[in-house]
Amino acid sequence: MKQVLIPKIYVQDVFSIPYKSLKKKGISYLLFDVDNTILEIDKEKVTAEMEKLFIKLQKMGFSLLLFSNAASWRLKKVKKQLQIPVFSFSCKPLKRSYKKVLQLYTIEPSSCAAIGDQLYTDVKGANQMGFFSILVDPLSTKDSFFSFYNRMKEKSLFKKETILFRRGAYYE
Ligand SMILES: [Mg+2]
Repeated sequence: MKQVLIPKIYVQDVFSIPYKSLKKKGISYLLFDVDNTILEIDKEKVTAEMEKLFIKLQKMGFSLLLFSNAASWRLKKVKKQLQIPVFSFSCKPLKRSYKKVLQLYTIEPSSCAAIGDQLYTDVKGANQMGFFSILVDPLSTKDSFFSFYNRMKEKSLFKKETILFRRGAYYE
């Protein structure tokens, strides 16, 4: 398995991420994928539990961003609900949008963590940029049309069950 596809941390969901230890590593910007990471693909509102987590993280001093390949219309309601900046059409894993974030906030990759549910977009993109990559399990088994191909590739990769990385074998 290619090193660039291996997440630094792999946990079940965004609630299981060791945020305190991220803080200790000097990470202050968290880029969240939206679909299947904080929101199911066929829903428009995040749960109250998720909203609470985002408030808690901001109180901890993190700057939060939604960083998604989805279209802006899809993210509008989530943005309104969570009141945090949104980067839509991010074209992950391409470097372009990651660089945009770094330039906009004048920050270094080492202060950023990117959280998502897909290896070929979220993890690969983050690793390529030197962001701290965090993989979570997808919230649902449904995928968008565009995620479908990457998910197929992912599934065949998981079948091989490398020593380095296995679906369901969490680590921090
Ligand atoms: Mg996703």
